[in-house]
Amino acid sequence: MSQYRPETVCVQGGYTPGNGEPRQIPIVQSTTFKYATSEDMGALFDLEASGYFYTRLQNPTNDLVAAKIAELEGGTAAMLTSSGQAANFFAMFNIASCGDHIVSSSSIYGGTFNLISVTMAKMGIEATFVSPDCTEEELNAAFRPNTKCVFGETIANPALTVLDIEKFAKAAHDHGVPLIVDNTFPTPVGCRPFDWGADIVTHSTTKYMDGHGTAVGGAIVDSGKFDWMAHAEKFPGLCTPDDSYHGITYAEKFGKEGAFITKCTAQLMRDFGSIQSPQHAFYLNLGLESLHVRMARHCENGQAVAEFLAAHPKIEKVSYCGLPGDKYHALAQKYLPNGSCGVVSFEIKGGRKAAETFMKHLKLAAIETHVADARTCCLNPASSTHRQMTDEQLAAAGVPAGLVRMSCGLENKLDLIEDIDQALAFA
Ligand SMILES: *Cc1c(COP(=O)(O)O)cnc(C)c1O
Repeated sequence: MSQYRPETVCVQGGYTPGNGEPRQIPIVQSTTFKYATSEDMGALFDLEASGYFYTRLQNPTNDLVAAKIAELEGGTAAMLTSSGQAANFFAMFNIASCGDHIVSSSSIYGGTFNLISVTMAKMGIEATFVSPDCTEEELNAAFRPNTKCVFGETIANPALTVLDIEKFAKAAHDHGVPLIVDNTFPTPVGCRPFDWGADIVTHSTTKYMDGHGTAVGGAIVDSGKFDWMAHAEKFPGLCTPDDSYHGITYAEKFGKEGAFITKCTAQLMRDFGSIQSPQHAFYLNLGLESLHVRMARHCENGQAVAEFLAAHPKIEKVSYCGLPGDKYHALAQKYLPNGSCGVVSFEIKGGRKAAETFMKHLKLAAIETHVADARTCCLNPASSTHRQMTDEQLAAAGVPAGLVRMSCGLENKLDLIEDIDQALAFA
C-alpha cells in the first residue's frame, strides 16, 4: 500500500533519487551491464541475485516507471512491454498454453479480440466469449476444467461498455483462476480493478498514460493476491520447477507477490523479446507525471460533448457512461465515480454519408485511428477499421454505419462543442 495519494504517486512514485542523483529518472540507454566476475553474472542468470544483465529482459529506466504504475494500481510488481498487445498476450500466455482455455468478455479491443480468437487459437488455446452483460449463470457456464483465466476491459474500446469487475472476479475465483483486466481507458486514476477483486491488470500505455501520441507501450501489473499454489494443478508453469532456470519454482521462490511478473520477465521477455525501449519508458513517465491532471480534463470534455450531442436533433444515439440515460451509468457510478474517460461514441442520422460529411468539416478533431491523445481525434469505423463490412453486417456487430468514435482531448470544451456544432450543420 502506498503511503501517498494517487496524484502524488503520479508525480513522484517509482523513483526517489539519492543525494546528488538526477532529479528526473535517468534514461539508461545501454543494452548490457558490466560485471567483475563470472560468478556475479551467473547468480543473475540463476535468478539467485537481482540485477541487470541484458535490456531484452530488464532495464533500470523501465523498472522505475513500472514501479510507479504498480504503486498507482495498488499492485506488488509490474513490468513494461513494447505495446499493449504484447502486455495482453504475455498476461494470458504466462498462465495459459496449448490445450488450455480462456473465458473473455466479447466487448474488447479489436486487436485483442483478434489476438485471442485467431492467433492464440493457432497456438492451441481456445476461448469462450461472453457478453459483459451476461448473467452469473451464463458466465459460470463458460468455464471448462482447462480454463486458466478470465479477461475483460474496464471500459471497452470502442464499445464503451463497463465491466462488472466484481461479477467477473467472483466467477473467476469460484473456478480457481485469476481475472485479468485491461484498464487502459480509465487508467488507475479513474478505477483500480484490484480494489474490486481483479488479480492482474494490463495497459496500453500508448493511450492516456502516455497521453500525447508519443510512444507505443504496454504494462502488466500483479495484485500479488492470487494464490497460485492453492491451485497448483492448474498452473504448472508457476508451481513446478522451471528446467530453463535450474529448477526454480516461481510461486515458491518469489511468492504470491512476485511469481507472476518474475516468470513473465524471465521466460516470455527472454524468449519473445517485446521490451519497451528505455527512451519510450522515459516519455511514458513524462505522461504519468500529469495523468491525474489530464484525466480530469478528458472526463470533463467527454461529459460536456456527450451532453451536447445527446440534445442535438441530428444525433440518433450517444454512448457515454457518464450520461444518466446510458445503459452502463449505474456500473460507472460504482466503478468510475470520478469520471470514465474522454471517448464518446455517437450515431449520426443519415448513416455513413452523414458521418463522413460531418467529419470532413471538423476543424479541431482530426481523423485518426488513435484515441486518448491530448488532441481531439475521431474515427468512423464504417469507412476505416470496419470498412470491409456491409451496412447490415455493421449493424449486427453493433457498429452502425453512422457511428463516430470521438476521443475528446484537452482543449477547451466550448471550442470542441462549437466545432462539432458547425460540422453537424453540414451533415
Ligand atoms: C489500444 C489498445 C490496446 C492495444 O495497445 P497497443 O499499445 O496499441 O498495442 C489494447 N487494449 C486497449 C483497451 C486499447 O485501447
